[in-house]
Amino acid sequence: MKKIALVLLLISTYSGFAQTKTAWPDDLIITPEKSNFDKTSTYTDVMNFINAIKTKSPNIQVSSIGKSPMGKEIPLVILSNPAVSTPEQAKALGKPVVYIQGNIHAGEVEGKEAVMMLMREILLGNKKSLLDNQIIVIVPIYNTDGNDKMAKGLRPSQENSPSETGERENGQGLDLNRDAMKMEAPETQGLIQNVITAWDPQMSVDLHTTNGTWHAYSLTWAPSYLYAGEPATYNFTNNVMLPYITKKVKDDYGMFFGPYGDYSTREGWPLKNFYTYNHHPRYVINQFGLRNRMAILSEAFAHERFYQRIYSTYTFVNEILDYTNKHAKEIVQINHDAEMAAIKNVVDNAGKAKKGVRFKMVPTADKLNGFRTYDYTYFIKPDGSKSLLKNGNIVTYDNVTYYGDFKDTIQSTIPRGYIIPAAQSAIAELLMKQGVKVEKLEKDEKLSGEIFMVEKFDRSPRKFEGHNMASAEGKFEAATKTVLKGDYKVDMAQPLANLIFYLLEPQSDDGLLTWNFFDAYLDQNAVNTKPVEFPVFKYFAWPVVKENSKKKK
Ligand SMILES: [Zn+2]
Repeated sequence: MKKIALVLLLISTYSGFAQTKTAWPDDLIITPEKSNFDKTSTYTDVMNFINAIKTKSPNIQVSSIGKSPMGKEIPLVILSNPAVSTPEQAKALGKPVVYIQGNIHAGEVEGKEAVMMLMREILLGNKKSLLDNQIIVIVPIYNTDGNDKMAKGLRPSQENSPSETGERENGQGLDLNRDAMKMEAPETQGLIQNVITAWDPQMSVDLHTTNGTWHAYSLTWAPSYLYAGEPATYNFTNNVMLPYITKKVKDDYGMFFGPYGDYSTREGWPLKNFYTYNHHPRYVINQFGLRNRMAILSEAFAHERFYQRIYSTYTFVNEILDYTNKHAKEIVQINHDAEMAAIKNVVDNAGKAKKGVRFKMVPTADKLNGFRTYDYTYFIKPDGSKSLLKNGNIVTYDNVTYYGDFKDTIQSTIPRGYIIPAAQSAIAELLMKQGVKVEKLEKDEKLSGEIFMVEKFDRSPRKFEGHNMASAEGKFEAATKTVLKGDYKVDMAQPLANLIFYLLEPQSDDGLLTWNFFDAYLDQNAVNTKPVEFPVFKYFAWPVVKENSKKKK
């Protein structure tokens, strides 16, 4: 009886995927479908799928974002009608690019499977219209190395479904979703240079699965959070697009989606607070806001079965693509205006206005009402103490405080630009890898602005991603400085102004100082014994300090 019910449930849920065709050719049936949703695709399975579908449609081109640390090509799939194979051809076509990324954490495999299902329907099924107004660029298996280290129990909260998954880290042992600022992994370099900088996606989606809280949403989402970027891209994603999709999936499919977060039962029950994750741009999605582009984090619910998580991810990506297809022009315009606003802010306010460089999580203005969660009941242990047990019921609670906003705790003056000494070429190189325009000074210049005196320099005793993360305290002082031919000049009046600011500000909570790029310089100058001038100079105006006006004759 139970078995029949499960089969019916599978058919009724799964029919959502397969309305377009009763059967796909054998070589387009993906591993979960072949294994009754017990197995996830290996790297070879994904490559076989891509190679098979490539022969069946004129609207797909395949390239690579680069090689993983273990030497695997990371496939980049470009869906377009008519087909394009280069960013230049995409620009000539005049359609915006939307980027979908699966499997950054290779224990969270649903996105990888869902995008292959969508590829079938976009290229060969009833979703061809999704290519009317956009080009869809997909990396289905971003963490190729982690994916194939399959074993049981790597995702303990996933109900052993699928029975084996890959591991979180890449082939170097790095978490690829903490690497977006320091760019130590070849995957990150491939993403930033060969996807983000090259194809300039107007919307990016990163597909994950949560690993904890028993909320009762099939999928939770987050925009690229608002902290040091322009508000327009965040406002549109968070206040317009995501609420629309959330309502639509409930109306159309009876599915519950909601904002991303966790609660702690240690705070008591019923819950009072629900917390999102950090704002830091080391997380891929959070960095896109600093690039004046929209982005969405997708987190399937760990405690559903594998087929359900694939279905919720598939549904979400499908609805995102439907929305971006219908609002392509509007999205391009908002992103363009955000970029102009970022540049204008530098031009108008350099040396005058301040912006946040460190942030803390704070509650949103509105509480969450009708918050869905599995319920808990108190029980009394034999020793008289109270404990909480999940009772299996799904309930809703009102008045939950949502920690989903960020407020600055330290600000710094916006400069017109930065000067990086020639000796610090690693800093300039990292900026260029991020897509920043960096120039070399052709002659000495006298500039006015600010220096930062590092009075206290700390490193965390605990290693994180191979780093003892650093922080600096100190103060800015007005200064006029002669900078030298051969030094690097970074004019902030460029599209990546907000990203440059976050990378180079000495007190930034996720900048290059945080990731130890300045340790050697500060140590050599004995920062633990005396204040040391931070080597990057902030200038407020270009070209040069005005000399006292020449005497009029
Ligand atoms: Zn993840």
